[in-house]
Amino acid sequence: MSRFWSALVNQLTPYVPGEQPKTDNLIKLNTNENPYAPSPVAIKAMQGAANAKLRLYPDPESADLKACIADYYELKPQQVFIGNGSDEVLAHCFQALLKHEQPLLFPDITYSFYSVYSRLYQIEYQQIALADDFSICLDDYKLPNGGVIFANPNAPTGKLLALESIENFLQHNTQSVVVVDEAYIDFGGQSAVTLVDRYPNLVVIQTLSKSRSLAGLRVGFAIAQADLIDALERVKNSFNSYPMDRFSTTGAIAAINDHEYFGAQCDKIINSREWLTAQLAGIGFSIIPSKTNFLFVSHKTLPAGHIATTLRDKNIIVRHFNQPRIDNYLRITIGTQQECESLVAALNEIVI
Ligand SMILES: *Cc1c(COP(=O)(O)O)cnc(C)c1O
Repeated sequence: MSRFWSALVNQLTPYVPGEQPKTDNLIKLNTNENPYAPSPVAIKAMQGAANAKLRLYPDPESADLKACIADYYELKPQQVFIGNGSDEVLAHCFQALLKHEQPLLFPDITYSFYSVYSRLYQIEYQQIALADDFSICLDDYKLPNGGVIFANPNAPTGKLLALESIENFLQHNTQSVVVVDEAYIDFGGQSAVTLVDRYPNLVVIQTLSKSRSLAGLRVGFAIAQADLIDALERVKNSFNSYPMDRFSTTGAIAAINDHEYFGAQCDKIINSREWLTAQLAGIGFSIIPSKTNFLFVSHKTLPAGHIATTLRDKNIIVRHFNQPRIDNYLRITIGTQQECESLVAALNEIVI
């Protein structure tokens, strides 16, 4: 607090990201990064972009990347918006599309940036409780609202909502924008991108940070009908004309075009996830069925906080949220198969 701060800044509660430790000797299962390297083709393309052209500004429209994403999803480039990580895309959605008279609705347990952005942009919001099994019940969102946002699969629960439930809700909720944050959709879900042509109020957001191993590059995008995309462009062009640098556009295009590598890495994660689920179930954990690159688990006898601290002493970091309803759960990112095996070995020593 300072007398020089604006009243708004005094009221903010900024997002706290998971720890990024400075040492390399840790098994890092706390921030849902992909344990595998990005596509080698993408890395090579970015190395090639380290040249004299860096003296020039990048394309403010990111037209090549828009065309690449439009191609991938068989859409028009005017239906694509690109930002510096999906966090920035989300922020622009809050400001451009989700601030209205009625409150914005989102789950009580979900990505914590939603409440952070609501406060930043002074948007009134109402949190809707997940069911006891942690599923999102969209029937509970059939209320007067100025917008709806949820992650599918949800985070940190990992639970997937069927595409039919989303479409049913869109048929009912026609008067406000519905944002579906699909940060984890490539790990086994069905994307709502296929609904965009039929629902003028739907925005689907994805990222290259998780399934494409490019968290360090900061590339995210939104898919929607052109007039919603226009709203995002208006905010972006009132804020930063060049959110995408020359490396990120080049690297993102190469990564998206490397279908084979992408598929193989996703399959590896999914296989390790299923293996880890079975192993943890065998040592007394209950596990929410996950369609993401993480598991949300609780142990039948040991408190989550104790397990997290003990794992940390064994150089393994997982995420524990000290928050009502989920304070006895751990969110564990799927590492390489070898990391998953080390985790199981460490847990075996803890839970005996
Ligand atoms: C990781 C994550 C994001 C942010 O992704 P970036 O593209 O790295 O900003 C957005 N939403 C959810 C639910 C996430 O888990």
